Amino acid sequence: MLEHDVVIVGGGLAGCRAALEIARLSPNLNLALVAKTHPIRSHSVAAQGGIAATLKNVDDQDSWEAHAFDTVKGSDYLADQDAVAILTQEAPDVVIDLEHLGVLFSRLENGRIAQRAFGGHSHHRTCYAADKTGHAILHELYTNIRRYGITIYDEWYVMQLILEENCAKGLVMYRLLDSTVQVLRAKAVMFATGGYGRVFNTTSNDFASTGDGLSMTALAGLPLEDMEFVQFHPTGLYPAGVLISEAVRGEGAYLVNSNGDRFMATYAPNKMELAPRDITSRAITTEIRQGRGIHADGSAGGSFVYLDLRHMGREKIMSRVPFCWEEAQRLAGVDAVIEPIPVRPTVHYSMGGIPVNTEGQVRRSADTFVESFFAAGECACVSVHGANRLGSNSLLECVVYGRRTGRAIATYVQDQSLPEVDEQHYLQSAHTQIQQLLAQSGEFRINAIRQRVQDCLSQHCGVFRTEAVIKEGINTLQNLKQQYEQIRLDDKDSVWNTEIIEALELRNLMVVGEVIMAAALQRQESRGAHSREDYPVRDDERFLQHTLAYFSPQGVTLQYMPVTLTQFEPQERKY
Ligand SMILES: Cc1cc2nc3c(=O)[nH]c(=O)nc-3n(C[C@H](O)[C@H](O)[C@H](O)COP(=O)(O)OP(=O)(O)OC[C@H]3O[C@@H](n4cnc5c(N)ncnc54)[C@H](O)[C@@H]3O)c2cc1C
Repeated sequence: MLEHDVVIVGGGLAGCRAALEIARLSPNLNLALVAKTHPIRSHSVAAQGGIAATLKNVDDQDSWEAHAFDTVKGSDYLADQDAVAILTQEAPDVVIDLEHLGVLFSRLENGRIAQRAFGGHSHHRTCYAADKTGHAILHELYTNIRRYGITIYDEWYVMQLILEENCAKGLVMYRLLDSTVQVLRAKAVMFATGGYGRVFNTTSNDFASTGDGLSMTALAGLPLEDMEFVQFHPTGLYPAGVLISEAVRGEGAYLVNSNGDRFMATYAPNKMELAPRDITSRAITTEIRQGRGIHADGSAGGSFVYLDLRHMGREKIMSRVPFCWEEAQRLAGVDAVIEPIPVRPTVHYSMGGIPVNTEGQVRRSADTFVESFFAAGECACVSVHGANRLGSNSLLECVVYGRRTGRAIATYVQDQSLPEVDEQHYLQSAHTQIQQLLAQSGEFRINAIRQRVQDCLSQHCGVFRTEAVIKEGINTLQNLKQQYEQIRLDDKDSVWNTEIIEALELRNLMVVGEVIMAAALQRQESRGAHSREDYPVRDDERFLQHTLAYFSPQGVTLQYMPVTLTQFEPQERKY
């Protein structure tokens, strides 16, 4: 059996930042990081637009309180305000620390870190490295954790969280190279497994964002929080769905419908293109539904709108958002200097996740916790984003809460000993699970079922939702679960068998999808990214509460947990 003091699952920003903190504070701890991809291929590397912090380099009127207010208003008042205060107060410090680690941020003429406008933020506070910010940060973090000699298990797929007697004791993991299965025990387990964009058919997320950590947590009998809040980013490139960063609108691009109108004037007259993402995604979807979308030949009635950069000029486009120009050129054949880019909303971010407190400890219920289990980053819900995240607050969350969780773990493990784990029991059940998958000779292919699951969630739990449509989706998913029992794998080999991983991921997509729909059905109001056409108004009386959803094979049961309000009273949200 493998043994470490601490094991972190996930090599993105949250996992690497936590690992760095633990290594800095307790260099003698035996620390391991496991990732199904190589760490620098984690989705964090694709983050484009930037990371928010009130450095006041461009705007000296900015303050952490203003950042906190923007975040809480953006969240439609569902964020926990104590967690938001920590996020915004610690932001300048973590960004300066990144800069000291070597991150190459873009600069102002005077040499200070540059800061740009971003949706829903009232000041220019987003720090960036052109439009490759995630790349710049993750590479530097990874280089730094290598210096501490942390054990890295890359291309190992974690199949199961070992949770017994309310205590996380370790992991069961599968090595892609040769199908080896191993049990790992540790004094503390941390999940930093990222989001679940692949539950939907159009997403900006990478192929690995399949919600594994969320599903493993749910299958261990623990709750998931606020899963109904799925962020649709307004500007996914049509038709691929990959991201055209909000930085493009931050730098001045327009959204235009088939009449050539900047339609955001109707929906958010003050903020225009820099309204928060939920509002902008609904605006685009409404324009398309009402016939003012655009077809490939430029005529009206199609399923995208234009993102127009032309007035920005070649020099600004190439210096501030070169990657977005490249993406449009490479994937849609559009030269954004002379043509507008076709865009429509794409699934982008998971506001909900594994419920944690501000030290990263995982909750079992509103007021009880699990021993030795921690989480941070996109897979966690602390909750700083509430019902809708503001752009550039997620990288920030990974770094602030990655650091805090790392600190909490370094202290926690000091007086812990390695737990007892029945290695043979877990090895045997993992081998049985894999053997069963390989032996099945059913009629269904993984790709086909996955596509149906993704279509189901996109059709039944999209930008706009109603009770009848969600209920239909829940039924469809039940049928797909039965078909999953009859999938057939073609690859029976033990070397680089990616099909086994796809089969395990597909189960996770279905668990996460079921939880999303159950929570969405029950929330009979519209708040942030959750927009119910049959309940169009926010209902603070009944639903100023977090959802806690418990999964079981019989179905999902829901509880609610109070929201922490400290500084800001809920108000109507206008932009
Ligand atoms: C295209 C794009 C652009 C973005 N731009 C911005 C931006 O400009 N600003 C901003 O604030 N936010 C942005 N975001 C959001 C932000 O990048 C993410 O929320 C954040 O990087 C998530 O980091 P993470 O560490 O939580 O997870 P990730 O970076 O997704 O890493 C997850 C890790 O978990 C591992 N893992 C998962 N499952 C398993 C398993 N079963 N076994 C082993 N390992 C596993 C993966 O291998 C990976 O290493 C963007 C997101 C996208 C998709």
